[in-house]
Amino acid sequence: MQNDYDVILIGAGPAGSSAAAVLAEYGHRVVVLEREKFPRYHIGESLIPFTFHPLQRIGMIEKMKGSHFTKKYSVSFVQPDGKRSQPFYFFNRYDRDTVAQTWQVLRSEFDQMMMENAREKGAEVREETTVNRLLMDGERVIGVECTGKDGVTYELRAPITLDCTGKEAMASNRRGWRVGDPYLNKVAVWTYYKGSKREPDIDEGATTVAFVPDKGWFWHIPQHNDMVSVGVVAEGKYLSRGGVRSPKEMFEREVEENQWIRDHLATGECTGEFWITSEYSRHSRYVAAPGLLLVGDAFAFLDPVFSSGVMLALKSGVLAGEEVHKGLLSGDLSPARFAHYSQQVREGVENMRKLVYAFYNPEFSFKDVIMRYPEAGAEITDCLSGDLNRDYSDLWGKIREFVPLPEDLPYGVPLVAA
Ligand SMILES: Cc1cc2nc3c(=O)[nH]c(=O)nc-3n(C[C@H](O)[C@H](O)[C@H](O)COP(=O)(O)OP(=O)(O)OC[C@H]3O[C@@H](n4cnc5c(N)ncnc54)[C@H](O)[C@@H]3O)c2cc1C
Repeated sequence: MQNDYDVILIGAGPAGSSAAAVLAEYGHRVVVLEREKFPRYHIGESLIPFTFHPLQRIGMIEKMKGSHFTKKYSVSFVQPDGKRSQPFYFFNRYDRDTVAQTWQVLRSEFDQMMMENAREKGAEVREETTVNRLLMDGERVIGVECTGKDGVTYELRAPITLDCTGKEAMASNRRGWRVGDPYLNKVAVWTYYKGSKREPDIDEGATTVAFVPDKGWFWHIPQHNDMVSVGVVAEGKYLSRGGVRSPKEMFEREVEENQWIRDHLATGECTGEFWITSEYSRHSRYVAAPGLLLVGDAFAFLDPVFSSGVMLALKSGVLAGEEVHKGLLSGDLSPARFAHYSQQVREGVENMRKLVYAFYNPEFSFKDVIMRYPEAGAEITDCLSGDLNRDYSDLWGKIREFVPLPEDLPYGVPLVAA
């Protein structure tokens, strides 16, 4: 059968749009199939400093600078009694003109910009087109079956398909590769406020992580148009204690548990819409199989804390684009070809996963580690800022003196045919 495209990508989120931009720029015939009509709502609004590099690679930095997205210079932490830490400013460690300033985005707008960017580079993006299944020739993925907005179902073929379907994780779910992360089994409930209180000046766009006593934490992400995204993350049985079922009641009860959040929201007006999600932390046993590569959340997602999701999706998207390009040039798109991609993506996820595990351990505090090992502060900052493809074994050794950290998971290797 003849191929219709060089690459088929399923999903036009950050992972799909970034991979498509790279591949289309190289001149490959690329089609992105996206179920929704953009702009569409999506959670995942706070970017981290090292998002800069993948955005730069696909030509998005000037567009971001020209956007109305809120500039984010720092992160701070707030205790339940309302005591706020000194904000950590990225420019105390990174170059002011590049990594040190990032953004709080509205994903409907950000994802549309990313999708248009891929189109500008030459990718064909078909919105309102749902991929129903992967087409197989034995063990090899040879394309997809999809249904367009007119309801017509048709097939497309390419030598490689990139699964960028986000939490739907099409390939991983359907092929039984999905493994949940039992320790990160949390629930998130969130909403939006308009006109609520903001920090002054340069702190206006800061992400605030506000703790609920021993149990969980709030995100407070100021956006443009005087909006704030605010959500609470904790164990499901804690949020639903006493039989509470509605996300609104869960959220409002936890607001009372943190004085800073309460004060900041008091003057604002809630949009009234509440969102809830759970069981989002998972990994795929395999990252590649014949004719198939997994990118972004479709491969793995950890946890909302530390806002690493979009950075990991963009970084894996750009890397996938580069590796598939090389594979197309050499005529080798075998799973083994993606060993480097697997190693890089897995290393990033594993490094961040260790900090996430530490964060949720009630015995742990970054302050304790830095008090004993002042030099660890820089490494913790780099890891939290998204500089994830580095050897942090020294840091893990220091943190293990305080709390256990998980070993690397044996997942994410390419599935090489027997
Ligand atoms: C509660 C919560 C809070 C978060 N907060 C943050 C944060 O502050 N910062 C951060 O960086 N990350 C955050 N994240 C993570 C972030 O949302 C994701 O990591 C990111 O969106 C992943 O991008 P992606 O491109 O892999 O997937 P997505 O952005 O989910 O894109 C996948 C796309 O695929 C499309 N699709 C799916 N199935 C099909 C199909 N069958 N056919 C066609 N199209 C399909 C979908 O419509 C979607 O557009 C958060 C996550 C959660 C759960």
